[in-house]
Amino acid sequence: MGRPYNFSAGPATMPEAVLQQAAAEMLDWHGSGMSVMEMSHRGAAFGEILERAEHDLRTLLAIPPHFRVLFSQGGALAHNAIVPLNLVGRRPARVMDFVVTGAWSQKSAQEAGRYGQTHVAASTADCGFTTLPDPASWRLSADASYVHLCSNETIHGVEFHTLPDLAALGSDAPLVIDFSSHVLSRPVDWTRVGLAFGGAQKNVGPAGLTLVVVREDLLGHALPICPSVFDYRTLAQAHSMANTPPTYAIYIAGLVFQWALAQREGELSGVAALQARNIVKAQRLYDAIDRSSLYVNEVDPACRSRMNVPFFLRGDDGQPLRDPAHPRNVAFLRGAQERGLLQLKGHKSVGGMRASLYNAMPMAGVEALVDYLRDFERQA
Ligand SMILES: *Cc1c(COP(=O)(O)O)cnc(C)c1O
Repeated sequence: MGRPYNFSAGPATMPEAVLQQAAAEMLDWHGSGMSVMEMSHRGAAFGEILERAEHDLRTLLAIPPHFRVLFSQGGALAHNAIVPLNLVGRRPARVMDFVVTGAWSQKSAQEAGRYGQTHVAASTADCGFTTLPDPASWRLSADASYVHLCSNETIHGVEFHTLPDLAALGSDAPLVIDFSSHVLSRPVDWTRVGLAFGGAQKNVGPAGLTLVVVREDLLGHALPICPSVFDYRTLAQAHSMANTPPTYAIYIAGLVFQWALAQREGELSGVAALQARNIVKAQRLYDAIDRSSLYVNEVDPACRSRMNVPFFLRGDDGQPLRDPAHPRNVAFLRGAQERGLLQLKGHKSVGGMRASLYNAMPMAGVEALVDYLRDFERQA
């Protein structure tokens, strides 16, 4: 009787080995006689944990030296405000460009509007966020302080498989990405990014902890109303200790980083190994959906997310059953639960189903889901 497979979009499944290690070290971290939770954030032991976590994250994502790594708090939604508070003042016009490709980038644009002028450079709202806009069609402002996009839309299941080259599109603004729901699932092209931020609760660790990776030259432009502990320059100068950092969450994230570094797939290791595995996992599920006549995923195959797979069951008329209360949807979720396949209900704004396949979801979990899809279809 193993653990059930948890397909939640977040907080999400964790590597079991990390949970085991945290349990073993709960009362006594490395002979210190203390739990990490009880340690001073200024002490040598926690200093070691923080330093190693940053070092390992830099290794995993090949973060160049001219980027700073910040362990912040508040979740990605707090940083929807904190990013503009830090960056919009870079240029007098206080304009921010947004590429709106789903619920999360839409939320980011709304929040940023409180701190400057937002401009929607492109949007896929008209097609229900089922594809990505061609960068050649983006209407970028001449004087934007930055350009924002969400590189993986957790709710709508669309993912940027390559990041745009803003310079080639005639913009000299830095690119800001919300990479909450696919960080560590694939490498990041830092030549195209000025700032990346993400909540931890998908691929990294406990909710609340928020990663920010920012190019050094973007620091130092915070508006006077920016809370001091969220001024990225202050946070960078204080090595993420402008105030007490979320120490236990950083410790758990550090264990996840060690786990990620140890992953192997043939010749590959670390994020490259995880990426290879994620490609296979996602392909397996999308193939099963595409080949069936009961299930449907409506996202353009070129921009389907490897992490979040929204799908619908069809009704007898062949139409997608969006209403979660439809008896076929209810039966599907009940049967899944009985097999230990948890949290498959879609986001309330989209309906239907969603399976999140983060790094910690093993191939066996995907196989169990695919088996269930087949069995349910047979008896439907
Ligand atoms: C989960 C998620 C968020 C929200 O994070 P909070 O920690 O709840 O603030 C924001 N953006 C994306 C892309 C997400 O997946």
